[in-house]
Amino acid sequence: MGESEHDNQMSRGNMVKKKELRDMAEGCLFCRIVAGEVSSEIVYQDKGFLAFRDVNPQAPEHIIIIPKMHIASVAELSQEQQGLVGSLILTAKKVAEQLGIAHKGYRLAINCGHDGGQVIHHLHLHLLGGKKLGDWIG
Ligand SMILES: [Zn+2]
Repeated sequence: MGESEHDNQMSRGNMVKKKELRDMAEGCLFCRIVAGEVSSEIVYQDKGFLAFRDVNPQAPEHIIIIPKMHIASVAELSQEQQGLVGSLILTAKKVAEQLGIAHKGYRLAINCGHDGGQVIHHLHLHLLGGKKLGDWIG
């Protein structure tokens, strides 16, 4: 167990695909997207993160950004993962720039748990933009 955790930190991606997804997150939709088992409209990816279009967009641009590693929600984050959370937000910034909406502004939102309206239990950040958004979503 200790050894596979090390591998994941050094190179997420393939290691995660083979070792973790199968046991830890069987049936998780976002893990299946990471694994390429479910298709999605990917707009950005790197070693640790994946960004793809929401299938039910709430704005002209609605992107879901996820860590490739399975983390169920904000509630499951540990202190050691603060770097990952920072990278998640910086990835969103990069995607917004890539989409050409950075100069006009956008919204980042994370839903957590039932009352927060979290539908998929794999930590994800919503990037919404492309129009003037209302006071709040949903
Ligand atoms: Zn997952």
